[in-house]
Amino acid sequence: MDFNGKVVIVTGGGQGIGRFIARTFAEKGAKVVIADIDDEAGIENEEYIKSKGGDSLFVHTDVSLEEDVKNMVDKTIKAYGKIDILINNAGIGAGGTIYTRPMEEWDRVINVNLRGTYMCSKYVAPHMRDNGGGVIINIASTRAFMSEPHTEPYSASKGGIIALTHSLAISLSYDKIRVNSISPGWIEVSEWKKSREAKKPQLTEEDHLQHPAGRVGKPEDVANACLFLCSEEASFITGANLIVDGGMTVKMIYV
Ligand code: NAD
Repeated sequence: MDFNGKVVIVTGGGQGIGRFIARTFAEKGAKVVIADIDDEAGIENEEYIKSKGGDSLFVHTDVSLEEDVKNMVDKTIKAYGKIDILINNAGIGAGGTIYTRPMEEWDRVINVNLRGTYMCSKYVAPHMRDNGGGVIINIASTRAFMSEPHTEPYSASKGGIIALTHSLAISLSYDKIRVNSISPGWIEVSEWKKSREAKKPQLTEEDHLQHPAGRVGKPEDVANACLFLCSEEASFITGANLIVDGGMTVKMIYV
C-alpha cells in the first residue's frame, strides 16, 4: 500500500489511536495533518514524525467548532494544496448516569463525536471533489451496538456515526469519495489505561481471553485497518463498517 504524496488529515491525531494512525500513514509516505485540541500532544507527534523523516503539520483544532474546522482545512490546503484522506478519529466519552448527567454533557459528546465528524467531512469534501476524489474514515465503536451501563451519549454518538457514514457514502459517491467507518473494540491506549488503572491496576489474563484473538487490541490494529480501507485495494468498499475487536462482539459467553 503506497501513500506517497497523499495528504491525510487525522483528527485527534495527538494521542491514543490517532497518534498511531498519523504515524502509520507518515511511515507509508503520506503528508499528515494532525488536528487536535491538545497542543502539547499534537506538536509532540508532529515532531516525532518529522524526526523520522516524515512530513507533518499540527493545527490546533476543536472539531466541534466550525471556525476551527474551517481554519484547519484552509491551513491544510495552504500547506499541501489538496486533501486525499480524512480520518475522523477525535472522540470523547461522558461521565455520570442518566440520573445524574447534566444535559451539557450530552451536548458535549454529541458535538465532538457526531457534529465534529459531520463538520470535518463537510469542509473537506469540496476539496476532495475538486481533486477528483478521496476517502473518509469515521472512527465509530463497538459501543454503537453493544453496551455496558451508562454510556448513552457515547453509544448514541457512535451509532449516529455509522448511520452518517451510510448517508455520506451515498451522497459523496457521485464525486468519487468513498466513506467507511471502523468500529474498534477494546484498544489499549494510554489515556484509557489511566482511567482504568484507577479501578483495576492492570490487564488480567481474563481481559485478554474475552477476545477470540487472545489479546486486547492495540492502536496499530486500528491504524492498519485505516491503511487498508484508504488504499486502492479497497476501491470497491464504501458505506461499510469494519469491526476491529479481535472477535469480541461475536463471542458467545456461557454462564
Ligand atoms: P484518546 O483520548 O486517547 O485520544 C483522543 C484524541 O482526540 C486526543 O488526542 C484528544 O486530545 C483529541 N480530542 C479530544 N477532543 C477533541 C476535539 N474536540 N477536537 C479535536 N481533538 C480532540 O482516545 P482514543 O482511545 O485514542 O480514541 C480515539 C477514537 O477511537 C475515539 O473516537 C474513540 O471513541 C474511538 N474508540 C476508542 C476505543 C478504545 O478502546 N480506545 C474503542 C472504540 C472506539
